[in-house]
Amino acid sequence: MTKDLEQEKEKVRQFARHYCELTGYTLNPDEKIAKTIIEGLAKNRLTKGFQYCPCRPLTGNQEENKLKICPCKWHKDEIAADGHCHCQLFFRKNDYKIPASTV
Ligand code: SF4
Repeated sequence: MTKDLEQEKEKVRQFARHYCELTGYTLNPDEKIAKTIIEGLAKNRLTKGFQYCPCRPLTGNQEENKLKICPCKWHKDEIAADGHCHCQLFFRKNDYKIPASTV
């Protein structure tokens, strides 16, 4: 299970990096949050067969649940409105603030 989870986490990391390259989004600069979300997605891949959003409850409706596979149906609107998706995995690049102390 641990080895499988590590493999799934790596797949999600690759997906997330690739998706950022495609879209111009960036991952949450808070690595702790990004890692938590990636782990949640990986666990869903492992136990539920798809990388369902870890921040949205699944229902008994499969059509509805499909919309919650990452990248979910709502993330673009959320990023446009709030600067990040509901889970705070993907951010609009302009909202990526380099801490002043590192500049
Ligand atoms: S809210 Fe973000 S992390 Fe969750 S499924 Fe949508 S895009 Fe993925």
